[in-house]
This record gives sequence, C-alpha cells and structure tokens, in this order.
Amino acid sequence: MSKTRIALIGMGKIARDQHVPALAANDAFELVAAASPHQRLEGVPNFKSIEALLDGVKNLDAVALCTPPQLRYSLARCALEHRLHVFLEKPPGATLNEVAALVDLADRKGVALFAAWHSREAAAVEPARRWLESRNIPGVTVTWKEDVRFWHPGQAWIWQAGGLGVFDPGINALSILTQVLPGTLVLKDAELAFPSNCETPIAASLALTNELGTEVRMELDFLQTGPPSWDIDVHTDAGRLLISRGGAVMRIGDEQPVENPDNEYPNLYARFQDLVQKSGIDVDVTPLRLVADAFMCGRRTVTDPFIE
Ligand code: NAP
Repeated sequence: MSKTRIALIGMGKIARDQHVPALAANDAFELVAAASPHQRLEGVPNFKSIEALLDGVKNLDAVALCTPPQLRYSLARCALEHRLHVFLEKPPGATLNEVAALVDLADRKGVALFAAWHSREAAAVEPARRWLESRNIPGVTVTWKEDVRFWHPGQAWIWQAGGLGVFDPGINALSILTQVLPGTLVLKDAELAFPSNCETPIAASLALTNELGTEVRMELDFLQTGPPSWDIDVHTDAGRLLISRGGAVMRIGDEQPVENPDNEYPNLYARFQDLVQKSGIDVDVTPLRLVADAFMCGRRTVTDPFIE
C-alpha cells in the first residue's frame, strides 16, 4: 500500500510538538512538505502559503491544518477544492457554518475530512466513558485553569475574535465531557470575563445540564500561575471518578490513580489514515457548539487589560 503524502500547514507549536513526531512514527504517512509564512521545517521543501505549496508539490494526498482557527476554513476549502484529504486541528473552524460547509465540500469532492479532538484520545477518556455509561451522575465539576503566559506565549490570535480565548483550552474539557457523559449537554448559564483590551475571554463560568439530570459546573481561567488544573470530577451513584491531567489520569474513589502513556496524536493519525482509506468524514462539532452557545447566551463582564 502506498504511503499517504501529507503536508503540514502552519509550523507553530502543535505542528512541531505533536504532528511531526506522530507522522515520523507512522509508516502509513510520508511528510513531504510544509507551508508557513515565517517558520520552516528542516528536511522538506518549505512554502510561504498553501497556494505556493499546491503549485510546488506534486502528488500530494493530504494536509494537516495546524494554524490558528480563524484561518481553518479558507485553508481547508482550498485543500478540499484540490481533492486533498484534510486533517483539521481543534477547533475545526471559527464558526459552525464554516465547518458544515467543509463537510459538504469534502462529501462532494469524495475526500476524507477529520475534525481532530486530541483530548478525546487521552488515556483515561475511553475507560472513563465505559465506567460512566451505566451510572447515575448527579454532578460534575470541571476545573480547567492554566497560565496563559506559560502555555500560549506570543499567541496574539488567541485574543482576537475567533481565537476563543480561555475556550481554546476549555474546548478540550468540553471534548472530553461530551465523550464520557451519557446524554446530551445543554448550556444553562454562562459568564465570560473579557479583558478590556481583548476580543476573547480570559475566564468563564459555565453551568450545563442534560436530560438525565446531570448538573455540570465548569470554571475556566487563564490566569492560574504554577501547575495547570485540568480536572473533571464526576460524582456518581457508585462513587467519584476523577479525570485529571487533561485526561491522562483516572482515579475511581480511593483507588490508586491509573495513568497510561500519552498516545493522543499517534491515535489521531491512525484514525485519519483509516478515514483516508475510505474517504470518510468524521466531524463532530458538539464541543464547538457548546462554546458557541456560551458566546451567544453568556453574560459578559469586563476585567483588567491583559498585558503579556
Ligand atoms: P501557534 O504556535 O501560534 O502556531 C500557529 C502557526 O500558524 C504559526 O506558527 C503561523 O506560522 C501559522 N500560520 C499563520 N497564518 C498562516 C497561514 N496563512 N498559512 C499557514 N500557516 C499560517 O499555535 P499552536 O499552539 O500551534 O495552535 C495552532 C492550533 O492548534 C490552534 O487551533 C490550537 O487550538 C491547536 N492546538 C494547540 C495545542 C498546543 O498545545 N499549542 C494543542 C492542541 C491543539 P508562522 O509562524 O510561520 O507565521
């Protein structure tokens, strides 16, 4: 079977930290080029734009879009029009309609489209989903707090409209939550705190519920210093289940925590290869829809300006 010839678009932090090593470890793919306005990837031809890359690289099969979300739609459209299979970093777009339009286009062109939610591939997520599927779950507390200056240095796009602010990491919590909880979550209440000089929130409090009577409280904060808190604490009729470290660790009651190796991006690329084989579409917008609802219905407060 011939390898899938793939290019990376947007050579920033996630492309370097995760996509490059995951592709190097996967025999089904050959990383043949990169496109990024300023950065370069050693060992492959580099281009300043996706258009230049499409002109310059022959027999390309696929692209992975690792840019800020505001650019996802136009880049994805361009790739799909050229009948390339497309891997979308999270979030899959800046708006829900963009993503719906991409699904239609991929379907018409007969190519794969994958909206990746890397946190859903964290080691504790599937065991937690299985443990929770038969429980009654009255309450969940989600705490997703990190130091934006440490985790997102210089990422101006995060503070610009469409960049999601604190929901850039917060959507990871929602991707896990919507995977492990039975039922369909809806937003009850939200308060979003915007720095006076930014277009996106720096903190948020959400209340969600579902048809099974589960009440979820969610606290997001970009100003926590020191170690991050990426925890989902689930109270059930059979005791407590804690998913911590962003989905890496699971603890049931007082039992020993279970931690397995991080395999998020290798799993994502295994899934993408599967989709490429059958030109399949796997696009779940549930986490993005909840974020959109929070922006649409949440109360807005204004806080101190954010100075990096
Ligand atoms: P980043 O470090 O700011 O990198 C984004 C890159 O996009 C920049 O390096 C920039 O390249 C490139 N870019 C901008 N405009 C472009 C264009 N028109 N064509 C091609 N490339 C362009 O951001 P990041 O942290 O990697 O995040 C990117 C996406 O991945 C976000 O949606 C984020 O939510 C997601 N993600 C991030 C992480 C993480 O830990 N950071 C984890 C999972 C998912 P130049 O520097 O060359 O201008």
